[in-house]
Amino acid sequence: MHDFDILVLGSGPGGQRAAIAAAKLGRRVAVVDRRNMIGGVCINTGTIPSKTLREAVLYLTGLNQRELYGQSYRVKEDITVTDLGMRTQHVIGREVDVIRSQLARNRVTVLTGTGRFLDPHTVGVTDGGDHERRVTADRIVIATGTRPARPETVEFDEETIIDSDGILRMDRVPSTMVVVGAGVIGIEYASMFAALGTKVTVVERRERMLEFCDLEIVEALKYHLRDLAVTFRFGETVKAVEKRPRGAITVLESGKRIPAETVMYSAGRHGMTGDLGLEAAGLSADGRGRIAVDERYRTAVPHIYAVGDVIGFPSLAATSMEQGRLAAHDACGEPVSGMHALQPIGIYTIPEISFVGRTEDELTADKIPFEVGVSRYRELARGQIIGDSYGMLKLLVSPQDRSLLGVHVFGTGATELVHIGQTVMGCGGTVDYLVDAVFNYPTLAESYKVAALDAMNKMRQIALLGE
Ligand SMILES: Cc1cc2nc3c(=O)[nH]c(=O)nc-3n(C[C@H](O)[C@H](O)[C@H](O)COP(=O)(O)OP(=O)(O)OC[C@H]3O[C@@H](n4cnc5c(N)ncnc54)[C@H](O)[C@@H]3O)c2cc1C
Repeated sequence: MHDFDILVLGSGPGGQRAAIAAAKLGRRVAVVDRRNMIGGVCINTGTIPSKTLREAVLYLTGLNQRELYGQSYRVKEDITVTDLGMRTQHVIGREVDVIRSQLARNRVTVLTGTGRFLDPHTVGVTDGGDHERRVTADRIVIATGTRPARPETVEFDEETIIDSDGILRMDRVPSTMVVVGAGVIGIEYASMFAALGTKVTVVERRERMLEFCDLEIVEALKYHLRDLAVTFRFGETVKAVEKRPRGAITVLESGKRIPAETVMYSAGRHGMTGDLGLEAAGLSADGRGRIAVDERYRTAVPHIYAVGDVIGFPSLAATSMEQGRLAAHDACGEPVSGMHALQPIGIYTIPEISFVGRTEDELTADKIPFEVGVSRYRELARGQIIGDSYGMLKLLVSPQDRSLLGVHVFGTGATELVHIGQTVMGCGGTVDYLVDAVFNYPTLAESYKVAALDAMNKMRQIALLGE
């Protein structure tokens, strides 16, 4: 008999949920991770610190109150990294406690250290020293996540030239910053530093950013960020980053030289598979360290599963958790229905973006007709009360069967609000439900009714012209 029924490598959202789901099904479960990484990238260096930092920035800068109290409104004049770090450390500490207690309550054994395959059923766990503990399991779940990718041509010094992990170790808020890469992580941090008053330049090789989002909403975000003194350099490639005593110069292939106190690279992420000894298990990873899985999250070796960022897209905490749960159920022989097709996307820029379903561009490319219903926060009483005049919610509605094809939200509470639309879509509801529903007043949720009425009125225009 093996030591455990299920052994999980990595305690991030995917690993944690896999371990707890298997334990709830009565299996003997162990999870392996480093002492200072319980909760994974999500709790320690990624989602939670960045979202807490954002909350601290919004509170201390008073940014969201300026529409009401004037442009000079601040809660604190000189915001230091200590002010920002205090909240982050507090939340990380609490979250780690919650996870440790959940694992303990469910009798999941925590093995401290890193694991590597010795054979397809055996993992060696080391915690810094020479001793390697051998652990065997019937089934193994790989949930080792990713680390920031670092281009070889750039010399990271952890002080001036950093990646997204380095943000949490900064010793001061820089007055100028170059962000290389306008992906989700890059643009989230760009907007936080811009809100703090840092002059940010974003360099992006592509001509657009966040191209999977609604174009109009991305334009609105760019307008806001420009208003916070962000400069965008699209279609530009970084040739070199030259370190100087008081900062660095980012040299672009076009010849531009951008001076800044800090350069943050956000150039994608690489799967944490290099030290896993995959070959001993009969597995391999692709050039970006990712492991291929089937629709049940099984790798090429069927008793070994992989979930979370290590399997690639969409690389979100939310999806990683669900993948972990599904993989554990499959590994325990439970019936598994697969991941729901409707996946919400949340981008915690300032202001935030969220959507579910299709975009206008996708529908147009697929020749699927749609009508647009829009609600603007400034026309809602709640929008006036909170001082958000820029927020908007957009519904994409099928004129054929009145189903919702997509919901796109920009502004306060976007990442929460989107779930109303997701629920209507997931339950097969139509725009009629939103027209008829009564929403609390004054709320931002009311924007669903306003947008639904707008879409209905537009659809009625065709009928008004007659057959
Ligand atoms: C700055 C930033 C912001 C983000 N913001 C969001 C957001 O707002 N919303 C969202 O949904 N997602 C966000 N993400 C993505 C989210 O953090 C990841 O999708 C999620 O953490 C992936 O979970 P995971 O289960 O793959 O494991 P991870 O959280 O990546 O953790 C993997 C764990 O495996 C451990 N490990 C690695 N190798 C071994 C080994 N050999 N043995 C044992 N353990 C090992 C690591 O120590 C780590 O603890 C963000 C990411 C970053 C970097």
